[in-house]
Amino acid sequence: MLELPELEVSKDRLRLALVGKRVAAVELHKPAAIEKTDVATEKLIGAHFKNVNRIGRHLCFEFDSGVSLYVNLGREGHVHVYERAPARLDAVLTIQCEKTGLRVSEQDSHRPVRIALLTGTEEIEWLNRLGLDPASPDFTLERLRLLLERRDRPVRHVLTDQRAIAGLGEAYADEILFEARLSPFQTTSELKPEEVLRLHAAIKKVISLAIIYLKALPKVELPVERNRNLKVHRCRGRQCHACASTIQLVRDGKILTNYCPTCQTGGKVLEDREPAPAKPPVQ
Ligand SMILES: [Zn+2]
Repeated sequence: MLELPELEVSKDRLRLALVGKRVAAVELHKPAAIEKTDVATEKLIGAHFKNVNRIGRHLCFEFDSGVSLYVNLGREGHVHVYERAPARLDAVLTIQCEKTGLRVSEQDSHRPVRIALLTGTEEIEWLNRLGLDPASPDFTLERLRLLLERRDRPVRHVLTDQRAIAGLGEAYADEILFEARLSPFQTTSELKPEEVLRLHAAIKKVISLAIIYLKALPKVELPVERNRNLKVHRCRGRQCHACASTIQLVRDGKILTNYCPTCQTGGKVLEDREPAPAKPPVQ
């Protein structure tokens, strides 16, 4: 699943490729993937791309006609700019411009892409419920402290709860906890002030470094998850780069977390947990 750093870099590249381009044709290949639409896609034809923004894990394409297209990618979702007409079976939406175009694709049929076309006055529940964007200047230490105080859950759950912090997923949550030297099972109510400070610094550092790393990659390598520069996520069995201990995997219900016992849990190898009752996720 693409997370904030990949989508932030993709947003910049999409903006460069698409702003000013005139829409010649729009095709919805899988109409069932549409979460909500108040504007017929034909209304995009003739409009020009005005801007591309990112909100959490959502991309927002603005047009000079006043219409905005919101895209929330699923687990295997990708967004590409193409130069020739696309012929991919996993395409959900294509927007054809002169000599170029935008293709939104999804390979996982169980987690469809959410697409919404808005004229600017409507409200969408899944957008309104998004939490703080950790790349935003508003994501201050104080805001994080208040956010954690209101929840009494494992910190790993809060990091990936889009209603709390919008944009992170499993990969960068593992990396942030490693950077902050925190156990994934530690509950937010147990965090000491210095640990909240470390967590805030780790969120900012991991996201910033990931964006810098991804921006330096050639265009063709984005946005692909395997190009991430990760230290613990999906590194089970490898040596920790900081202490040479073996990276472990622990299961908390359906959540899989990689961590270093020496760096994060005082040397303790965590035992798997049974699924905890959870509220429906917001994407
Ligand atoms: Zn370590």
